[in-house]
Amino acid sequence: MAAEEEDVPRLIALVGTGELGELKKVLLTGECGPVDVLDKNGMTPLQHGAYKGSVKTCQLLIDHGADVNDINHDHRYSALHFAALSGSTECVQLLLKSGARAYHTNSLGRTATQMAAFVGNHSVVAMINNFVKLEAIEYYTKPQGLETEPKLPPIAAKPLYDLIMQVNIHPVRIALTVGGCSMLKTHINPCSKVLELMAEKESKRPENVNEVICLKFHYLSYVLKTLEKELNKTTENDKKPEEDKDILTFESIIKKWIRGRASDGFEEHLDYYIRDAVKAFPYVEIPLFMQIVRNMHGAIGESCSLSTLIGAINGQRAFADEYACSTCGDSNKQNKKCSKCKMVQYCNRNCQRLHWNTHKKFCAQLLKEYEKQLKRIEEEKKKDEEEKLKKEEDNKKKQDGETKMNENKIDDVVDGTENISVS
Ligand SMILES: [Zn+2]
Ligand SMILES: [Zn+2]
Repeated sequence: MAAEEEDVPRLIALVGTGELGELKKVLLTGECGPVDVLDKNGMTPLQHGAYKGSVKTCQLLIDHGADVNDINHDHRYSALHFAALSGSTECVQLLLKSGARAYHTNSLGRTATQMAAFVGNHSVVAMINNFVKLEAIEYYTKPQGLETEPKLPPIAAKPLYDLIMQVNIHPVRIALTVGGCSMLKTHINPCSKVLELMAEKESKRPENVNEVICLKFHYLSYVLKTLEKELNKTTENDKKPEEDKDILTFESIIKKWIRGRASDGFEEHLDYYIRDAVKAFPYVEIPLFMQIVRNMHGAIGESCSLSTLIGAINGQRAFADEYACSTCGDSNKQNKKCSKCKMVQYCNRNCQRLHWNTHKKFCAQLLKEYEKQLKRIEEEKKKDEEEKLKKEEDNKKKQDGETKMNENKIDDVVDGTENISVS
């Protein structure tokens, strides 16, 4: 992307140096020409900003009318392609919110999502796959046709939108989010119904059906229905103290989901639940659905249905990392390890508390596992060192032997060139 100083339009040079104040000034005066000025590769200032992953620069350029879908680039890369390569989820989200077309392909036929997956930016893949415009939900907050009431109370639109945009789709995380949001709890029924309608609408699109989001709408609707049933149960016999309600709203179902199988701790209730949620998906002709069902066949416990679902919705490996919370799947480097076994981690005390009933049966066992691991590492290290020493000794012996042999050969053979031993 490097270019000669004199070839670079001033706007692009300013994007490069990141001098926001100066950039703002020249954008206001318009002294540097059009906001979508191209460099010699056909790249706009916005594309340069996206490639740098600079969300502030991109915002400034978009505010001044930069075209998020410009594709004058030599290889038809869009700003979204560049943001996807940069790995900045903030930039990607900004561009999507500003109308960037995720289905646009470059001259190699690759979408921004595919480019992000190619370079291993999995959180970007998840971001693009999960993106929905707020307007798509706001549509349901206005009465349509003969309706006198909207399907969704306007006040619930934003919380529902945030729930849809949440990348972590672990049912426990959804239950914790809903449990902590009174607006979602109050309007859980219309929220679930609107999600169902959105899934249907997506499935009936004449082209460019977003299978991922269609499945996600259905799945969220399914989980909300489950939580609604739980809410109805708890209001019947509600004896919990007021201040604990948020955290405890869905405690019994969460504990049921994460209860581990006695033999190995496998969360079989959760697995059944995910399979049921997928089985309830009504648009069976969608290829993504068929692929998931194929991957989920076989006996319970052979594979993890939740990872299959997460893989389908967020792209492979999005959560299969070592920092994921054992209760809700939230991935964060700041997650704290169990102080005893150091083999599991949690985002906070609440998640640890919820998991304790299951974890207490395995903590001691895991500690042994952990100690074994440490021992194995120690042993491997020792073995490596011993082998290294042995090799060095062998080499030395070999060299000594060869020298002796060569000395003998020199005595025997007349032509000296035969004596050069390579091994
Ligand atoms: Zn957690
Ligand atoms: Zn432990």
